Amino acid sequence: MYSNILYSQLNYRTSNNAFATLLETAIAHYTNLEINDIRMLLNECINNKEKKAQIIDIVSNQKSQKHNNTLQAIIPQYHTSQCIDDCAYCGFRKSNPHVLRTELNDNDFEKELELILSWGYTNIEFVYSNDTNFPAKRIAERIVKAKRMGKSIGKELEIGINAPPLSLEDYRILNDAGIDFVLLWMETYSDSYSKWHPNNTPKSDFNYRIDIFDRSIQAGIKKYAFAVLFGLSDWVEDVLNLIAHGLYIRKTYGVEPYIIGNPRLKRAMGLNVENSRFIIDDENYIFINYLFKLIFPETKLFINTRETIDMNLELIKGGGDFFTIDCGTFPGAYLNSELVRDGQEQFHTSYYNREKTVALLQEKGYKVIF
Ligand code: SF4
Repeated sequence: MYSNILYSQLNYRTSNNAFATLLETAIAHYTNLEINDIRMLLNECINNKEKKAQIIDIVSNQKSQKHNNTLQAIIPQYHTSQCIDDCAYCGFRKSNPHVLRTELNDNDFEKELELILSWGYTNIEFVYSNDTNFPAKRIAERIVKAKRMGKSIGKELEIGINAPPLSLEDYRILNDAGIDFVLLWMETYSDSYSKWHPNNTPKSDFNYRIDIFDRSIQAGIKKYAFAVLFGLSDWVEDVLNLIAHGLYIRKTYGVEPYIIGNPRLKRAMGLNVENSRFIIDDENYIFINYLFKLIFPETKLFINTRETIDMNLELIKGGGDFFTIDCGTFPGAYLNSELVRDGQEQFHTSYYNREKTVALLQEKGYKVIF
């Protein structure tokens, strides 16, 4: 389990290897990289624009050769806004009396999914807050239903779930149902985790959270997606801890991350958190996304609508990533867009018009596959 080794990894040694040697290793033998090497690469780049640009160029070229500017569209579908957790940065936190509490009932689930399929999507992320009305069995039924609906129109759907961490047994149920990938944003690996997640809530169990992929992979689900939420704590340590977690999974299970997310803290109902002193600046944010792709070249970024389209264009050079265009962060948001317009959302997002966004991406040389 990852929680057994995380704490011993936090005292990084300084590596004496030169930047050029490390970069060469990263390009030719990325699986040989150790976390201390990556710490050194990061340290060398944080205040050095040229070195950052060098890495961005190398990775963009690699991506371009492999993916030829192709992106895959992905869409979240929210199934509930009811939550027994109380994360201080989230509009769905249980202590927020103003947000509408609702779940997507089975009827609306199918109706909304039909709509999503009619837009052409085949990659879908089911999103769950911590709602006891959605045990693994019910989620599994929705996965089976969605796959059938896809097949009935000749489409093979890829479905991931972004839900609170579940047990090994629950992941077996989801695996049997045909789930394709499991997403969990780790939020932060730092001590401040307990500050953001009150200790009388399920999410305060940090070890249970960080061992999620040990359980999901042992249950047979080989694709996993993770991220930190930039803005909760010191971003350098969070980035290194996220990468160390990925290296652990590589070494233990021979599995590469399927997706790395890159959310930055945004305002949520009743909260203004964007001025957190831990917010990562744009220049380093762009660089970190390419550092992820350098260390995990098989992995796709989860490009999200918390960012502006201009920022997202900076992150996708060469292609090979998942790109979010439609993003209603509320149950039923695609059936009734008013639900998100009046602020009933988990956190603030930008709104992209589908046709215009696809046209813009095409104009920039990208091909978007739905
Ligand atoms: S982040 Fe997730 S678990 Fe935390 S309050 Fe929001 S919906 Fe609930």
